Amino acid sequence: MGVNRSTPGTPDGGPAFVTTRLDAVVNWARKYSLFQYPFVTACCGMEYMSVNGAHYDQSRFGAEIPRFTPRQADVLWVVGTVNHKIAPVLKRVYEQMAEPKWVIAFGACASSGGFYQNYAAVPGIDRIIPVDVYIAGCPPRPEAILDGLLELQRLVQEEGPRGIKGINPRQMAGD
Ligand code: SF4
Repeated sequence: MGVNRSTPGTPDGGPAFVTTRLDAVVNWARKYSLFQYPFVTACCGMEYMSVNGAHYDQSRFGAEIPRFTPRQADVLWVVGTVNHKIAPVLKRVYEQMAEPKWVIAFGACASSGGFYQNYAAVPGIDRIIPVDVYIAGCPPRPEAILDGLLELQRLVQEEGPRGIKGINPRQMAGD
């Protein structure tokens, strides 16, 4: 954590301890209070429900509360196949969310179109909106979903609200 920045307006131009520590505290609070908006379109929704059940218990990570208005949500979970017809709706939902906001591509279809490589399916939601974390699988197992959530928490803590990016499978494939 950088502490050598001068604070404009301080008499001695000393290090900005208060500002940087406050950022860390705010990010810590953010990562444990991620209200989510589930945009569920297909079969991956069954696994999304399972991580919210008692066995996997997503609430342990402070992310159990779904908000069914994007204006109150921090994280957009895109769960399942997105076709071109519904793509404008997804974009509108994203635009309605207040900053800071994050997006998780849940499963192969949301990440890359999955096996629906045809005229109707969007080949990855990052063609429409920015994505922070991609979760692989068709569908992903609950453990992978929780792993994705922990990765998002790490990014929120370490990198703050903006400029965070997960691993893009398309880049890994050299596309
Ligand atoms: S990734 Fe597989 S399980 Fe998930 S929505 Fe696509 S086809 Fe269904």
